[in-house]
Formats: sequence, structure tokens, C-alpha cells
Amino acid sequence: MSSSKTVDLATHPLTLWQGPLGLPDFTRIGDNDFGPVFDAALESHQAEIDAIAGSSEAPTIDNTLAALELAGEPLDRVSSIFWCRAGAHTNDDIQALERDISPKMSRHFSAISMNEKLFARIDDLYQRRDSLNLDPETLRVLEKTWKGFVRSGAKLDAEGKKRLAAINEELSSLGTKFGQNVLADERDWALFLDEADVAGLPDFLKSAMAEAAEMRGQKGRYAVTLSRSIYEPFSTFSERRDLRETVFRAFTMRGQNGGASDNTDVVRDMLKLRAEKAKLLGYESFAALKLDDTMAKTPKAVHDLLDPVWQKALEKAANDQKELERLATEAGSNDKFAAWDWRFYQEKLRAEKFAFDEAELKPYLQLERVIDACFDVATNLFGVTFEEKRGIAAWHPDARVFMVKNVDGSERGLFLADYFARPSKRSGAWMSALKSGYKLGPGAKPVIYNIMNFAKPPAGEAALLSVDEAKTLFHEFGHALHGMLTDVTWPSVSGTSVSRDFVELPSQLYEHWLTVPAVLEKHALHVKTGKPMPKDLLDKMLAARTFGAGFATVEFTASALIDMAYHARPDAPAEPLRFEAETLEKLDMPDTIAMRHRTPHFGHVFAGDGYSAGYYSYMWSEVLDADAFSAFEETGDPFNPELAERLRKNIYAAGGSKDPEELYTAFRGKMPSPEAMMVKRGLV
Ligand SMILES: [Zn+2]
Repeated sequence: MSSSKTVDLATHPLTLWQGPLGLPDFTRIGDNDFGPVFDAALESHQAEIDAIAGSSEAPTIDNTLAALELAGEPLDRVSSIFWCRAGAHTNDDIQALERDISPKMSRHFSAISMNEKLFARIDDLYQRRDSLNLDPETLRVLEKTWKGFVRSGAKLDAEGKKRLAAINEELSSLGTKFGQNVLADERDWALFLDEADVAGLPDFLKSAMAEAAEMRGQKGRYAVTLSRSIYEPFSTFSERRDLRETVFRAFTMRGQNGGASDNTDVVRDMLKLRAEKAKLLGYESFAALKLDDTMAKTPKAVHDLLDPVWQKALEKAANDQKELERLATEAGSNDKFAAWDWRFYQEKLRAEKFAFDEAELKPYLQLERVIDACFDVATNLFGVTFEEKRGIAAWHPDARVFMVKNVDGSERGLFLADYFARPSKRSGAWMSALKSGYKLGPGAKPVIYNIMNFAKPPAGEAALLSVDEAKTLFHEFGHALHGMLTDVTWPSVSGTSVSRDFVELPSQLYEHWLTVPAVLEKHALHVKTGKPMPKDLLDKMLAARTFGAGFATVEFTASALIDMAYHARPDAPAEPLRFEAETLEKLDMPDTIAMRHRTPHFGHVFAGDGYSAGYYSYMWSEVLDADAFSAFEETGDPFNPELAERLRKNIYAAGGSKDPEELYTAFRGKMPSPEAMMVKRGLV
């Protein structure tokens, strides 16, 4: 029986949002509502798509492109609430629904992108685009939509479509297998230690290792596992060189241990299929296909960034190594300095250079004050203000609602924030939208939210943050501003709908204002005394930021370069791991540093498609944010009004309405060089 007979989308609280401030009325939404409403909403979206595709009228922007963009409103609404719940406040029922809904959604949307009648109408508009007299944003949306269909195989003949579907399916199961193999190797390996072996390790590490041993049935002992949160601190603090070596070897061999969980063949097959897919779709290489809709656009542009950084990082790391070798000799070591020594001596050097403790900073970073600082910076830069609206129900009692207003007092949208960890929330921090802002058709005001995982203090006490946590709050709020300040017509280019190598600019850039002295002086006040953070503590905190950059940049960039080397060639290497070794040798990779992710466990690139030919993106965004903030520094005013207005207009408000290079140039006057990023990292 069709569920649409029992659900009325026009009146259901999941799809008709009539709670306070135009939010959904969360008090009337039950967990069992999602399933039937999803079914009805998918059906209603399909009916809209069929009507557009089957129209007897000639295609126009209104009856095809705009109709397509505005279709599926009920599906958008139920999805946005569901995915919010799935991440921020889940339970067994929601998780079961998730397993049911994910494949349904993916079948639904892939059927739309393979819909030939629909593509014929889009293609007709696209071919006539120059005679349609379109404004630039509409033209861009038309081009992006057309390209999206083509990249999904819409232009292939029947045989090509069949082959592409088969490749995609095979890639997706290989990607899943890759991830599960790494997980199996991580799960199966543990090094059990006793009290004498763990002398000198910090308490937080010892308790994590005790917990890990107990989970593996060895209560009372300590386990080193291959989870990064244990591996890294163990390599940093363990005095036992023999154990550090054992653990290092196990960590870097994940996915390459022979047997059922070995990823060597999985990688070989994936690279082959990716090369074939690119060829089928008319691209020179898989990297060319993946980069086509990014800011970098070509493998060459990626290398223009990574290659000079690589050289500087090698120099810096070589100098750092000399200093670490000196420390090792002073400590009485006669061994040749090795990869499992780096983190250990680097920590000794850090303690020697920057004698301060994270615990000294924490009392100055009260959550409520840091939230105020986020809002205050946004008001200073962009004129928007935030007013908390209390007593409004959201998905959980901890979620707070803020009205966002423009300079003239008019309503801009809503910001919701849910700051504390709880068992029903997944880990990490993120931004998303219950509703994106746009002007097309009836238009919509943005409803944006941030989710954090800070430890909840006992009642009556102030929540205190670490520097990293305060930075995360600024980071996610930067994404939120990208959503809230959006000023575009078309929904598909609203807010954070930008390319993978551009989306971290608004967030990483915003982090810079946390450490602007005027901001800290006003908001970093001691929880007991109310006094601002002392200058020398602030200076030490700032100076420590670039420590260890040679090592970090080499391990990151090596992985990014290998990712590009695999995917920028037209074919696939017959033996990927030999290719990895040869490429590293050509790059002069030091044998005292390991890649951050070696091929057989490089999940970003092989456990799915997310960051394949895209690991560079993190550094690409960093080049942009460092250069963008240095624009403010050059004026001597971190809130320079003229620059802030250009930043608002071209970056935070523009979404994906223009090419990112055009947007960046409009803000900065030129494209960035990696210079400012290298200064920020302490490489020059
Ligand atoms: Zn981010």
C-alpha cells in the first residue's frame, strides 16, 4: 500500500513548518513519522520530475531549470530534519531508518540523473544558452546542471551507460572493501604491555591504553592499538625505542599484511577502473575528471601549489632533524636517527622551547565568552547581529536558537547551535542547514546550525574550552556565516554549495579572528578573576603554533603528491605499491618521516571517492585563508570596513554563484601565492 495515502505532506509537521519563528514544530514530530513521510515525499518529488520531463511545452528556464530546482521541497524538509537527528540526536530507530533511507535516496537521485527526457530538455537549453539572454548566475547554474548530468553519463550511448553503471557499482564495493580491510587490520593488532613498560606515559594515554586492553580481554594491562589517538601519543611519549619501532612498523603496514585484508589488489583494481571511467567520459585522466569542477581545475595547478611547498618543507624538516639528532645524542643515544624517533624527540624540543601548559589557558576560554566573540567578530565585519530566543523547542533541549538580523534590523535568518557532547550525538563538529537561503520562486531565509561536542560542565559551572576547541567553534561558525550571509537566487549555488577546494576558505579564514589581540582582550577573561589573558601567555601560545611544521608538512604533502601521481596519469600502474616507492624516491622523501597516509590505508582516496585526486584540497584552502587574512593585516586593521565589505560580497554572500577564482580575485585583486600559507606554517 502506498504510504502517501496515510500522509498528507501539506499538513504534516515534518513538511509544513509552522512552529515558532517558522521552524518545524519539533514537539509534534515522532521518530516513527520519518519513514512514511520520506516515502510520500520521494513519490511526490518523482511526480514533479515526471511532469517536468514529460511536459509538451518547449523547454524554458522557468518550466525546466527553475522547476527542477524548486521541486522536492517536502523531501528537502524531511531530509534536513532527519539528517540533523541522525547526527546530533540519534537512537536505534533512527539508525535503522538510516540504513533503509540511504539506498532509497541514492536510487532516487541516480534515476533522475539518468532520466533521458529530462536531460534532453536541459541539453536543449544548454545548446541555446548564448541566445537566451541569461544573467551570469542563471547561466552558471544552467552550465553546472548540464555538466552534472554529463558527468553522470547522460551523453553516453546505451552500452556506455551500462558500462559506467557497472564501473560505479564495482568502485563502490571495492571502496567499502578497502575501508573494511583497514578496519580489520586495526582491530586485529594490539601490543599488550605491563606497568613497567608504560612508565612515564601521561595519564590520559595510560587510561586510554588500559581501556583498550580491557576491551580486548586483558584487564589490568595496557594495549597500544593502531588507532591514531593512541598511536600518535605513544610514539610521542614512550621512552622505549624498541616499542616505538614495533608500533611504527605495524601502523605504516596497515592494509599491506597479506591475507584476506590486504589492500594491494583492491588499490590496483580501483586505479584501473578509475582510469577507464575517466576515458569513457572523455577526460585525459581521473584527476582531470575530478578536478574539472574545482577551483584548481587541473593537475598542473595542484602541482604549482604543492611542488614549491614540498621543497620548503624538505629544507625545514632537514634542519629540524639536525636539532632532533642533537637532542638524541645528548640523551645518550648511539642509534641512527629513525622515523620512530621523530615524534619522541620533537616533543622534548617542544617542552624545551615553549614551557607552558594547555591547562594555563583554559580558564580564559569560557564557552559563553567564545560564542560572544564569534558573534562580535561577525557584527564588526559584516554588521549582522544575533539575539537568543529562549524557550523554543528544537531537536534536543541543549539546542539553542538565535535570530540573525541585518544592519537595518530586518530578519536575515536563524542560527541554531547545539554545543555539548552526549551519547546520542556522533563525534566531531559540523555545520549544516535546515533550510538554505535563496531568492528563486517564493524564496527562503537560511536556517543554519552548528553542532559541537564540548564536555558539559556540572550545573552552575562555566564550560571551559581548550584553544583547539575555541578554534573549532570559530571554524564551524565560519561555515555557518557562509550559509547565513548567502545572497543568491538559485538554491543549488546557495551558501556552502561550492567546490571541495574552496569550501574551507570561509571557515579556516574565520579562525584567524580568534587570536586577534582586540578580540582576546575583550572576550578571553579569566573565569574566576575576570582579568584578560596575560600578554606573555598569549605570545607563547601564538609562537607555539608553527612548531613542528617541517614534519607535518612533509607527511601531509607526500600523501597529496602520491594521490596526484596515481590519478593524473592516463592509465593505471600495474603495481601501485612499487609505483608509490619509486615516486617517493624521485621526490627525495626523507626516510625519517613516513607519509601521513600510505597507499594501502589511504582512506580519503580509496575508501570511497570523497577525496580521490583531492587530498590537496586541505592545503589549497589554507593558501586561500592565509592570503585572505594577510589582506587585513596589510591594512593594519583586522576589521578594515572596506575589505570586510568586499569579503562579505564576494566570499560569504556569493555561494557558488560565480567561479571561485573570479570570486577570490574580486575580493583580493589577485590570486594568492602559497607565500602567506608558508609563513603561517613557519616554513619561510
Ligand atoms: Zn570545515
